[in-house]
Amino acid sequence: MKIRVLTGAGISAESGIPTFRGKDGLWNKYDPTELATPEAFQKDPKLVWEWYDWRRQLIAKAEPNEGHKVLAQMEENFPDFWLVTQNVDGLHQRAGSKKVIELHGNIWKVRCIGCGKEDYDYRAPLPEIPPECDSCGGLLRPGVVWFGESLPVDALQRAYELSEDADVFIVVGTSAQVYPAAELPFVAKRRGAKLIEVNPEETPVTPYADVSIRESASTGLRKVLELL
Ligand code: NAD
Ligand code: ZN
Repeated sequence: MKIRVLTGAGISAESGIPTFRGKDGLWNKYDPTELATPEAFQKDPKLVWEWYDWRRQLIAKAEPNEGHKVLAQMEENFPDFWLVTQNVDGLHQRAGSKKVIELHGNIWKVRCIGCGKEDYDYRAPLPEIPPECDSCGGLLRPGVVWFGESLPVDALQRAYELSEDADVFIVVGTSAQVYPAAELPFVAKRRGAKLIEVNPEETPVTPYADVSIRESASTGLRKVLELL
């Protein structure tokens, strides 16, 4: 059985990491255009970095939750398993998942806007904001995908191929509003996959789901594991 999973911010909510949309979402409090766009970074790199540094500190203190762990277990139980995530927190990997495709980058990555050099920097808080490149002195930016930017081509290509080739497609904790990630469940469904959704709230995917579990990721995914 070929199992594919798409996760969003909701799966990390139970680890204490706020989502973007929905109840308690960050975008209710902050304006995304002032924090998560290339223009915002150009205008005020320090402000943008302060926000990312705050989120990095939250994530550093957080632990993977039961939802992340169930998915790591699923990977062990099923040889043909892949996890596609929109999350940037790296909690899937910390829970033990290895077959992970990151569509929106990783918050621990930094990339130089001068020379393009990329590195992981796990320090939180960072000693200096905004951080500078140790090769060229250029400004470093977070290695995440911002609004208005395109997704990493290889990761996206692979995510489409895997979605087209799924028997079961599980969508967890995503508001399914950010494209192209939001399209993947529909790609899978069109090719005949059974679509399972885990989300306490209704989303644009809900009407198309073969099974809709209106629960938190931890409870919902335990039920999915029993179903499979
Ligand atoms: P989103 O914030 O738009 O939606 C979150 C969804 O999770 C909502 O549908 C909500 O109902 C659901 N949810 C809330 N609590 C839940 C729980 N306990 N269990 C299951 N579902 C729950 O998130 P998204 O769809 O991933 O939005 C996309 C963008 O948000 C991505 O670009 C992603 O990079 C970014 N993001 C990532 C993180 C992270 O890495 N942890 C955090 C916030 C946002
Ligand atoms: Zn550089």
